[in-house]
Amino acid sequence: MIEVRPNPSMLTHQGTYGEYGGAYIPPVLEKQLQQLADFFDNEVQKDEFKKEFIQLLKNYVGRPSSLFYAKNLSEYVGSKIYLKREDLNHTGSHKINNCIGQILLAKKMGAKEIIAETGAGQHGVATATAAALLNIPCKVFMGAIDVERQALNVRRMRLLGAEVIATELGSKTLKDAVDAALGYYIENPSSFYLLGSHVGPHPYPKMVGYFQSVIGEEARQQILDFENRLPDSIFASIGGGSNAIGLFSAFLDDKSVEIHGAEGGGQGTYPHTAATLSFGKPAIFQGTRSYCLVDDNGDPIPSQSIAAGLDYPGISPQHAHLKDTNRANYHPITDQEAIEAYKLLSRLEGITTAIESAHAVALAVKLLKNKNSLAIINISGRGDKDVEREM
Ligand SMILES: *Cc1c(COP(=O)(O)O)cnc(C)c1O
Repeated sequence: MIEVRPNPSMLTHQGTYGEYGGAYIPPVLEKQLQQLADFFDNEVQKDEFKKEFIQLLKNYVGRPSSLFYAKNLSEYVGSKIYLKREDLNHTGSHKINNCIGQILLAKKMGAKEIIAETGAGQHGVATATAAALLNIPCKVFMGAIDVERQALNVRRMRLLGAEVIATELGSKTLKDAVDAALGYYIENPSSFYLLGSHVGPHPYPKMVGYFQSVIGEEARQQILDFENRLPDSIFASIGGGSNAIGLFSAFLDDKSVEIHGAEGGGQGTYPHTAATLSFGKPAIFQGTRSYCLVDDNGDPIPSQSIAAGLDYPGISPQHAHLKDTNRANYHPITDQEAIEAYKLLSRLEGITTAIESAHAVALAVKLLKNKNSLAIINISGRGDKDVEREM
């Protein structure tokens, strides 16, 4: 029996990871975020909270997600490869794990309303879903251009009862949606800001990392069950870093396990890329100190990737630390390489993965060629959303 459980070691972090992390926020937010951090620390220790979280993961999300032996891909590559199937979760990606955790917390805090920002709409849909489930009103902030580009996800969010607010600020995309949501949060302290990735100020990376750690806890039990040993390497795609930290967290202390993250390489060269750890520099961005894609003056630049979920100039502070300490390796995968892996996995295994996850597949295919080793790839989401695009 595979136990569904988060990893308690993710609670030992206090918001800093080496020289990264922290909370670089306007003074008006300090009290709100401190209250959130204290409430989280207290609540997650309670058996009742853990029980409710795990019950929802099992019965609503459908966990544990399967660890599937990809025989055809394995023969093609020349290594034994398992796929962790987060694409099989309710709403089709790992994002729901975190949304369920944070929405439970919001409910316990007595939040009057949930707010979130979204770019392509994936986090917005997962948040609207969780808010519908626990019957809390939900506002999703979105750049006006994204509202137009992502019409289907906008309709899904509205169907789920969320109010989608188009912001006309700035470039009318994700960064401006974050600014609008933050502005609203400052003026409405009884709202709960549900952040979607392993980024932002403390306590968000701590909370998100804990809620996503169920992925790795399951995968570790599953591979030991099937193979009686740990994998030689593990792979995940990296946008903000939440599905990757979810998988990696269970293997950080297993020195024999190589850890690889696949960044959105875009066209492969700076600045036409979203590969923050490969091409960025340490900087303070959106509330935390981590790597960031910056220009010559050290100001953040827009990222470029075919994958909306990877198209972000920042990155999790814990991944920054794992890079600097050489515990994990990060590689840019180009748009073209991801498209090829997207097609390859569809044909070989009948699994059409999200274009984000296809970056991890592409990296694994490259590094595992004729290695005759044992590996796990995190399939962070399903690819229906990407079929429409000409690739
Ligand atoms: C959002 C998303 C990602 C990237 O976000 P992380 O926080 O890095 O996991 C990757 N895959 C899918 C399917 C996504 O929806």
